Amino acid sequence: MGKIAVLDDNMINMIAAGEVIERPASVVKELLENSIDAGATKIVIEVEQGGRDLIRIIDNGSGMDAADLALAFEPHATSKIRISDDLSGIRSMGFRGEALASIGSVAKVTVTSRTTDVIEAHTIQNDCGDKSEVRPCSGDVGTTIEVRNIFYKLPARQKFLKTPKTEMTHITEQVTRIALAHEDLDLTLNHNGREVHRLLGGQGVKERIQVLFGQSLAEDLLETSRAERGMQMRALLAKPVAARASGKYQYLFLNRRFIRDRFVLHAVKEAYRGLMEPNKYPVVFLFMQMPPEDYDVNVHPTKTEVRFDNANLIHSQVLAVIRDKLLGTNLDVGGKAPAATSFSPGHSSGFGTGHRKERIQQAMSDFFSRPASAPHQQKFSFSNTKQGEPFPQTVESSVAMSLPDMPAFEQSESWHAKQFLQVHNSYILLQSEDGFLVVDQHALHERILYEQMVKRLNEGNLPSQRLLMPHSFEVTNAQLQAYESQKELFVKLGIEVEPFGPNTLAVQTFPALLHKADPVEFVKEMLDKLVEEAADSDQERLIHEVLDMAACKAAIKAGHALSEEEMSQLLKDKDIVQRTSRCPHGRPTTLSFSLKELEKQFKRTGF
Ligand code: ADP
Ligand code: MG
Repeated sequence: MGKIAVLDDNMINMIAAGEVIERPASVVKELLENSIDAGATKIVIEVEQGGRDLIRIIDNGSGMDAADLALAFEPHATSKIRISDDLSGIRSMGFRGEALASIGSVAKVTVTSRTTDVIEAHTIQNDCGDKSEVRPCSGDVGTTIEVRNIFYKLPARQKFLKTPKTEMTHITEQVTRIALAHEDLDLTLNHNGREVHRLLGGQGVKERIQVLFGQSLAEDLLETSRAERGMQMRALLAKPVAARASGKYQYLFLNRRFIRDRFVLHAVKEAYRGLMEPNKYPVVFLFMQMPPEDYDVNVHPTKTEVRFDNANLIHSQVLAVIRDKLLGTNLDVGGKAPAATSFSPGHSSGFGTGHRKERIQQAMSDFFSRPASAPHQQKFSFSNTKQGEPFPQTVESSVAMSLPDMPAFEQSESWHAKQFLQVHNSYILLQSEDGFLVVDQHALHERILYEQMVKRLNEGNLPSQRLLMPHSFEVTNAQLQAYESQKELFVKLGIEVEPFGPNTLAVQTFPALLHKADPVEFVKEMLDKLVEEAADSDQERLIHEVLDMAACKAAIKAGHALSEEEMSQLLKDKDIVQRTSRCPHGRPTTLSFSLKELEKQFKRTGF
């Protein structure tokens, strides 16, 4: 007896659904694309419980008649391509004819639709492949699709759904992408009866970015465009100083379709090279237009990957457009600050540069949060180094935090007596018992801060200081959700953050250990990290990643001149950290050269 059997339709649809419909957000993406293909100018998206309970999409597009409705759930049913030649010049968002069939196989779906030329609407249900008749009903012109209880007959898939909050973050992201690519669309997104976004059609992309990502990002964007060799490109670029810890804010669109493309992303990275820290990601919005014949979107079921016919050409065009704009712009961030308020040069980062008022507040709170004891901490000097990147001036964080609880100091008092020398404002050379050491000042201070934070966290929360005034900043919905789901982590770190109006948070307290870091910039970066990691990652790893970031941000930078006391303090702390730290962490902080080695190098051995 033969073993091969042809799968029935619903089985085929469910397998296809595995590729296209990963989670509620995939449903939202597919349905929005269908509405756009139907010429809708106005779309309302209603979501309940992160889309686990309900996704309802109401559009004012061309609609479907009774005959179309009867076919809409059939696999490979599409009105968008007829012959294979069409595949090379796809202008619609959809064409594979598998979205509705897939969604209908994994949820309880109702489609109600009416075309312009009739007075009556029709409706059809599909409950996990179990289809009803098409029936007449009342309804407006356009289409309403309701998707309830996704995966309810597929417990194995349902199990992989995250919390409603996390699923909603993914949905918001899909809506954001559509909203950016289609500025003419009037889009409303509601969650559990509350309005998340209301985006008016014809707003212009900059206004959209402002609504979706906040004013400070939007108003600081550099804008450029170019058309050459069949490609038109419009780019909105954030300045290097606004670069982020994750690549999430790199939005690429090709003919109004959000794409992820490694060639283009690489070109973006190249364009910003040398203008920002290498491990960061610039914030960019790139809108590319080219003939659909010049690339293939039919590479992956979700159509976010494309294959360019001439990827090298695209790479060099993207690189050139962005690079030209960046090099033609004054990106000096320190230069804007009036000298009298520049105690806190590090403040001018995050999304956009700080305002004068904020700088003054920051300077005052810096002043009052400084421990009064150590005399060298009264120094307010200001230095601008490479590329106008401001660097912190002193090491009081390590002085302030290590003095009270580290009685082992006397033992290492001998460091004081030893000679040390800073070279290139980055390394400290000092004599050791059997040779000499080269210390990387940034790596060492980073390590010290990290160990001190780990130690403190084992004892409880990080001790924090109340800022003189709350530092408020705008957040995206995704960031807000990330904050709400990880409040405890903030408490642990001694960071008190509170809502401060719509889409605004304010930092109230900040850990004393990190007072070299800018509170707003730090919290924003932390939120980005949390958004990126979503709720999926384990707490322990998350904490260590945040500590890593914190240590790096608050540590003395390379290129920064140190006083004798500062060096001496750093070297004292080095001893303690090296004796107490359990886990070796990160790159080396110290290189050691023995006399023996020197003698060998100078060919003194053997004489
Ligand atoms: P595709 O979009 O790849 O054609 P889908 O399964 O997403 O396949 O949709 C199947 C067909 O149903 C579409 O080709 C279109 O004719 C019709 N359709 C789906 N959604 C809508 C809508 N919101 N308005 C009008 N027609 C729609
Ligand atoms: Mg479709």
